[in-house]
This record gives sequence, structure tokens and C-alpha cells, in this order.
Amino acid sequence: MSDCLFCKIIAGDIPAEKLYDDDDVIAFRDISPQAPQHFLVIPKKHIINLSDMTEGDDALVGKMMRVAAQVADEYGIKEGYRTVINNGADSGQLVFHLHMHVLGGRPMGWPPG
Ligand code: AMP
Ligand code: ZN
Repeated sequence: MSDCLFCKIIAGDIPAEKLYDDDDVIAFRDISPQAPQHFLVIPKKHIINLSDMTEGDDALVGKMMRVAAQVADEYGIKEGYRTVINNGADSGQLVFHLHMHVLGGRPMGWPPG
């Protein structure tokens, strides 16, 4: 997707501070962190959001979760972190390429806003 911000990060056309990178998934620091640790885990495949997933994406999205946990562990927030997937405009989704926020390093409130 030539006009997708996160596809441009995957392609290396826009810089990002990558924390993890393999054939399927990358993780990079959010440019506007909302917690001491805030990174995004995204599939390299352009999927708009959860509503755009198909059964064939099950393993890929499962991997995103495992990578989120692995990177959270590596960056010292294993004891507690929040994962968020905004899905659609009403949720606050601004970038229409599936991404999982991982936030940690401070207490998290509940319910989320
Ligand atoms: P969402 O509102 O769930 O779509 O989240 C999009 C996230 O992408 C926001 O937290 C932004 O701060 C983040 N973001 C936007 N542009 C960049 C960028 N160039 N590098 C890293 N994160 C970004
Ligand atoms: Zn994309």
C-alpha cells in the first residue's frame, strides 16, 4: 500500500526505532509515547484492522501477540503492560494498518478511556 504510513516504515522509507524485525512482523517505538515504554507491533502484510482479518491471518495475528510479549520482556515491562488494538474510526484508530499498542512502565487505569 503506497499511501500507508506503516507500510512505508516496513519498507524503510520512513525511519522508525525498530525493536524487533522478522519476515512477518515488526515492532517499533511509538513516535508519541503515552507511557515510559510504548511500542507498536504490526504485521508486514497490510491488514487494515481486526475487521479486515481473514481466517488465513490467524497465525500472523497470534504471532503479533507472542512478539508483543517477547519485546515487553526484553524492555523490562514483563511485570505489567497494556495491549490495545484500536479498531475503526470510533475507537480512535488513526493509522489504518493493523497495529497492537504495548504500553508499560507506569500504572494503567481501568476502564481505559
Ligand atoms: P492509532 O490511533 O491506534 O491508529 O495509533 C496510531 C499510532 O501511531 C499513534 O500512537 C501514533 O503516535 C503512532 N505513529 C504515528 N506516526 C508514527 C511514526 N512515524 N512512527 C511511530 N509511530 C507513529
Ligand atoms: Zn500498510
